[in-house]
Amino acid sequence: MTRKQKKMLARILVSAALMVALLFVPAEGWLRFTLWMVPYLLIGYDILWDAVRGIVAGQVFDENFLMAVATVGAVALGLMGSGDYTEAVAVMLFYQLGEWFQSYAVGKSRRSIGALMDIRPDFARVERGGETEEVDPDEVAVGSVIVVQPGERVPIDGVVLSGASDLDTAALTGESLPRDVGEGDEVISGCINLTGVLRLRTTKGYGESTVARILDLVENAGSRKARVEHFISRFARVYTPAVCGAALALAVLPPVVCLALGDAPLWSQWLYRALTFLVISCPCALVISIPLTFFAGIGGAGRCGVLVKGANFLEALADTDCVVFDKTGTLTRGTFSVSGVYPQHMAAQELLELTALAESASSHPISRSLVAAWGGEVDRSRVQNIHERSGHGVQATVDGRSVAAGNRRWMAELGVDCPDCAAAGTVVHISVDGVYAGYIVVSDTLKPHSAEAIAQLKAAGVKKTVMLTGDNEAAAQAVAAAVGVDEVRSRLLPQEKVAAVEQLLANRRGKLAFVGDGVNDAPVLSRADIGIAMGAMGSDAAIEAADVVLMDDDPMKIVRAIRIARRCLAIVRQNIVFALGVKVLCLLLVAVGAAGMWLGIFADVGVMVLAVLNAMRALRAGGEN
Ligand code: ADP
Ligand code: MG
Repeated sequence: MTRKQKKMLARILVSAALMVALLFVPAEGWLRFTLWMVPYLLIGYDILWDAVRGIVAGQVFDENFLMAVATVGAVALGLMGSGDYTEAVAVMLFYQLGEWFQSYAVGKSRRSIGALMDIRPDFARVERGGETEEVDPDEVAVGSVIVVQPGERVPIDGVVLSGASDLDTAALTGESLPRDVGEGDEVISGCINLTGVLRLRTTKGYGESTVARILDLVENAGSRKARVEHFISRFARVYTPAVCGAALALAVLPPVVCLALGDAPLWSQWLYRALTFLVISCPCALVISIPLTFFAGIGGAGRCGVLVKGANFLEALADTDCVVFDKTGTLTRGTFSVSGVYPQHMAAQELLELTALAESASSHPISRSLVAAWGGEVDRSRVQNIHERSGHGVQATVDGRSVAAGNRRWMAELGVDCPDCAAAGTVVHISVDGVYAGYIVVSDTLKPHSAEAIAQLKAAGVKKTVMLTGDNEAAAQAVAAAVGVDEVRSRLLPQEKVAAVEQLLANRRGKLAFVGDGVNDAPVLSRADIGIAMGAMGSDAAIEAADVVLMDDDPMKIVRAIRIARRCLAIVRQNIVFALGVKVLCLLLVAVGAAGMWLGIFADVGVMVLAVLNAMRALRAGGEN
């Protein structure tokens, strides 16, 4: 509880006690009025004040206005002797109680998201000349050596120089099993070092590190509103004046009609009904619970390693009926192994060496695996004029020779004849000085959960799954058959992937999600209705372009994200139907005189409390599968 909440609670309790005490005081007339004004003003002064301020500012119709008019009206009726002040105080009291409860609930879900925020490191231990010094993570230069003790949080992304330990990544990925790391492994910031002392060389500044990026995402998520949220605020703008008009009509029309018919007009009875009508009509439950549900949903998703950049994306995710996957690094591990080197007129080792050197600057998974397969130390002075063409391959000058490596299309573009070869896997063709020099076959392995994820997506009602790849037909078909996607398109250039997605987007009723690992698919990520980037370790461009970021690269998280989104939207819908249903029912009861202000305020606060409790369920959605 914050101090403000404590103060409010005290105000509520004191006014409630005063109200109950006054019920036993037999005062009459002005004395009675004065006594009752004490709890009324104590509990309601801020609302009255806000209502006045709203009127002055020209924004008349808000819930403060509704509450003020209703209670002042009730007091006026009390003065005229045809009502009692208890209702004015009770209405304010319950309204404030509801507000208090809601602020408490918001605080609670904020704290849960705050648990995510807890990954913010306070300091980094920088090693300087054998000594370590605690400094602000912001001040650590890229390439510094930092030490992380057991129990501390890794402040900045880096590579392990020495030491071995287990890392707790739960706060980032939702994965509860610790990950063991040793020399040479990459470590992302935000993990907790569990067992051993680690010395790291930082590979990024704090601002570009995983932690800072996540915090940035979470902090900005609230600013993107969902369609329903816009709908509700537009709704409230029309609704409140409409309700005030209806209340006015209820207060004036029936008495006038009675007068015209020669009956008693019963002014105060109809005024009372009109005021009750106002109390009930307050749309707070909706206005409050919907953003709260999205907020909780984003928090719940975050807790299991799915970062959603805004409520609008959560909404779109719930409506997804087509999921398009990139192949390499998304459905497959993206770690290729060389399964054969077929040189034309040189030794296999020499071909591999030339290729690895030409590929040495690329971050493409194929390049990395070729360099790893060669195993030699990359001497950058041997390689010049490196040029990479995405979706094709690379070209570079190695030891003075012009080496090109890539797919068939790349060879064609360079004017190199290249023979047919029917190898199972991805074929990297190589030319040296413009002459075909042979090929290397690399193959990737599936991620363990790819097939299961596709099956579960289908079970969850996703109608269509598609795989897009720049790889050759044979490799693409093999993967597609193994994971069970409905459709494959192979040999696509990055821009052709965009075109393929656009084609799929046309005449589609639901939303289309594209899942990529971010190596050259940022354009597709931004073109799809929802771009999902896998692995916070993927490229920064992808994380910028994506709408949803999966902290680890497990395809099962996609299913999870969709389930969380659906649940969140279901809760929103329940709240809308429930709140509006109860409102309409109460309004009818009041209009015909079957219920009084007490029922009104109970209905209002009751609906709000239930709607808020329901909204909070979205926060827990992450805990289930
Ligand atoms: P994917 O759609 O599977 O992610 P990419 O669009 O990254 O594939 O690449 C498509 C194809 O282009 C690869 O299968 C490979 O044949 C070729 N290619 C791309 N980059 C390179 C590279 N650096 N070295 C060799 N081949 C490459
Ligand atoms: Mg790719």
